[in-house]
Amino acid sequence: MIIDAHTHIGAMGKDDRNVTVADLLQSMDEAGIDMSLILANDIAVSDDWRGMSADDILTQCAGNDRIKVIGNITISRDINDQLLRLREHVEAGVVVGIKLYPGYENFYPSDERLKPVYEFCQKFNIPVVLHTGFLLQGSPGIQEQAHPNSIDKIVNLFPELIFIMAHFGNPWTAEAARVIAQHQNIYADLSGFFTEYDEHISLEEKADFYQKMKEFISITGNLKKCLFGTDWPLYSQKEYLAAVQELPMKDEERDLFFWKNSSRIFGLAA
Ligand SMILES: [Zn+2]
Repeated sequence: MIIDAHTHIGAMGKDDRNVTVADLLQSMDEAGIDMSLILANDIAVSDDWRGMSADDILTQCAGNDRIKVIGNITISRDINDQLLRLREHVEAGVVVGIKLYPGYENFYPSDERLKPVYEFCQKFNIPVVLHTGFLLQGSPGIQEQAHPNSIDKIVNLFPELIFIMAHFGNPWTAEAARVIAQHQNIYADLSGFFTEYDEHISLEEKADFYQKMKEFISITGNLKKCLFGTDWPLYSQKEYLAAVQELPMKDEERDLFFWKNSSRIFGLAA
C-alpha cells in the first residue's frame, strides 16, 4: 500500500497546463500508488494565481475512493465562513485535513486570526498541514514565516492536534528535524524536494536529497514521523517514488512512511 500525501490539480502543470483528477489517477496507476491526497490551494499569493478550493476539487473526484481532499483556509477572507463551508465535507469524510500557507500568504502559523482553524481541526480530529520551506518568487510573505521554527509555538499550544510540515522544511531540513524530534504531535511529508518540472530527477539532486535525509535521520532517529508525498504534478510520481524508495528503512519504518502514518493521521479507510 502506498499513499501520496501531497498532490495538486488545476493550473499546476508545466507552463500552467491544467491537470485533472483523471491525469492524477493515470499517474497513480503508472507509479503503483493506491491513494492520493489532493491539497487545495485557493490562496491570495498573487494577482495571476489560480488556485483550487476543496469544492473545486470535489466536483472532479466526488465518490472516488482512491482520492481524498485537504481543504485550505486563506487568511485573506472570512475564516469562519470558510470553515463553515468545509464543515459538511469534513463531516462526510471527504475533506480529511486543512492546509495553511504561511509565507505564501503574509502570516505566521501562530497568528491569532487562525485560532478558530486550529480549534476546528481539534474538534473534528483532522490534522493541519503547514507549508514550510522555499517560497515561490513573488510570495507576499517572508521566509521566516515558512521556517520550521515558526511552527514550534503553535505545536506547543495545541498538543492534541496533529501538524504536518509540508516539504520537511527544505532547505531548513535539520531545523525541521529538531522540531519533529521535540514534539510528539508533528510530522513531515517529504514532498517537493527536487527541481520542478525537470524531465528526470538528476543524480546530483538525489545525492543532495540522501545527504539531507541522512542528517534528518541522525536527528530524529528514524523516518517514523515522515509521510510519503510528491507534490505531483511538479514531479513524476513514479520517479519521486523510486528516489524515495532508495532511502534506508527498516520494514516497520517503511510501512509507517508509505501508508500507515497517512492512514492513521487522516483517518483513511486504507
Ligand atoms: Zn504542494
